[in-house]
Amino acid sequence: MNADAPVGDEIDSLHRMVYRPISQFEALQEANRCLYCYDAPCTKACPTHIDVPAFIRKITTKNLQGSARVIMEANPVGASCARVCPTEQLCEGACVLQKNAVPIRIGDLQRYVTDFARDRDLTLFSPGPSSGKRVAILGGGPAGLSAARELARFGHTVTIYEQKPHLGGLDTYGIVPFRLPVDISLWEVEQVRKLGVEMVTGVRVGQDVDFNHIVNSFDAVVLAVGMGTVPKLNIPGEELEGVWDALALIEQVKSGLFKGSLGEHVVVIGAGNTAIDAATSACRLGVPEVEIYYRRTQREMTAYPSEFNFAKQEGVGFHWLSLPKQILGQGGRVTGIEFLKARFAEDNNGRPVPVPILGSEFVVPTDGVIRAIGQSRVTEFLQSSGIKTEHGVISVNSNGQTSHPKVFAAGDCIFAKGHSEAMVVEAAQQGKIAAASIHRFLSEKNG
Ligand SMILES: Cc1cc2nc3c(=O)[nH]c(=O)nc-3n(C[C@H](O)[C@H](O)[C@H](O)COP(=O)(O)OP(=O)(O)OC[C@H]3O[C@@H](n4cnc5c(N)ncnc54)[C@H](O)[C@@H]3O)c2cc1C
Ligand code: SF4
Repeated sequence: MNADAPVGDEIDSLHRMVYRPISQFEALQEANRCLYCYDAPCTKACPTHIDVPAFIRKITTKNLQGSARVIMEANPVGASCARVCPTEQLCEGACVLQKNAVPIRIGDLQRYVTDFARDRDLTLFSPGPSSGKRVAILGGGPAGLSAARELARFGHTVTIYEQKPHLGGLDTYGIVPFRLPVDISLWEVEQVRKLGVEMVTGVRVGQDVDFNHIVNSFDAVVLAVGMGTVPKLNIPGEELEGVWDALALIEQVKSGLFKGSLGEHVVVIGAGNTAIDAATSACRLGVPEVEIYYRRTQREMTAYPSEFNFAKQEGVGFHWLSLPKQILGQGGRVTGIEFLKARFAEDNNGRPVPVPILGSEFVVPTDGVIRAIGQSRVTEFLQSSGIKTEHGVISVNSNGQTSHPKVFAAGDCIFAKGHSEAMVVEAAQQGKIAAASIHRFLSEKNG
């Protein structure tokens, strides 16, 4: 997306929302079903611990501004999360009504309330009295915005450095518009800007500005750079026209800059949320046949079950235990992709890994191949800083502090197996944790 790219109200099949918003009548009916549980399990299950019964009760008394404040207080990107959180695994999955009735539609209610605040452009928070301390945040995605919002409310002067023209990270550029429209994310950005946070865009740290210079110029730093691009498949044929990086494709679609055609048949490699978003985008771009090929099985795929079901409804086909061998082409364009069938074997640690079955090659004729096999790590600029990383993941303690005492980190850049999940709501919570730790760190330094 460039700064002039259309954002917001483009209503076409690409941008039309998947889920209908709840009506006022439904919202009141749903809110009145809530039992307002003491020690509410839904609140515990939310990584940002939104006081769910409190925000729902305020709906019943028609105090929607107060309700929005409860949500956004706990989660600075609560409007985006209302649309993209896997609520069935979080708050709604924990609702006590799960057992004998239907859980409260918490996500829909959260969307109802945050839409109210956004439609009226309510300002929900104000900055704290100035502390005289300056904090730099590298990356303006959910983690960076969350940390910035909290730090500004503590009274610190905050500058966010963001390489893209707009802030919001994957909420603005990565999650498909029919699940998360750009203007939702940009409203959250404006909420943070209104607190006096400086936003320096179009600046890539490590390239346009030196990381060590930032560390020396500020009292504390938050690394919130997320993850990087989709890695290569490392098979022949990746240079052909018609081979896409899923994130680059979604970014073009989301910004309205995609003008071409993907053809009649597209193959997507991978089975995480990125693969699902790329496949469903292709469907909405008018590709009649879209198929996902994955080297493991449905059981191991990382896409949320709701996203998997959505993709099936959109007509996406799924093929398991298939390893890409080479992309085939003619005249510089993709014409097909060759796979090997796979079976599971144990690696040296006894973990199941897919291995190719010799002689099982098969070719799928196709017009396009979309790589969606996760994201690489962004750590080049850390190399001369001495900040500890492990397999590309920035190492932090429970306060979000890195091996450099002045530098903290949050969000996808600290995501590792067994350490929370790469989700918007987790990034928001980690941003809050980093901000609270920095506030303590700066207060102790003062004292
Ligand atoms: C296609 C897709 C679909 C997803 N769907 C969902 C979903 O449905 N629900 C859900 O909860 N999560 C989803 N996720 C995951 C979610 O988007 C991430 O977990 C979340 O955005 C992480 O936030 P973050 O702030 O850590 O990183 P990001 O959102 O990646 O933000 C990092 C920011 O840092 C900037 N940056 C990076 N390097 C530099 C640099 N050197 N200098 C300056 N700026 C820099 C980037 O431009 C970016 O704006 C999805 C992810 C993808 C890719
Ligand atoms: S667990 Fe369900 S019923 Fe209880 S407070 Fe939460 S949403 Fe309401």
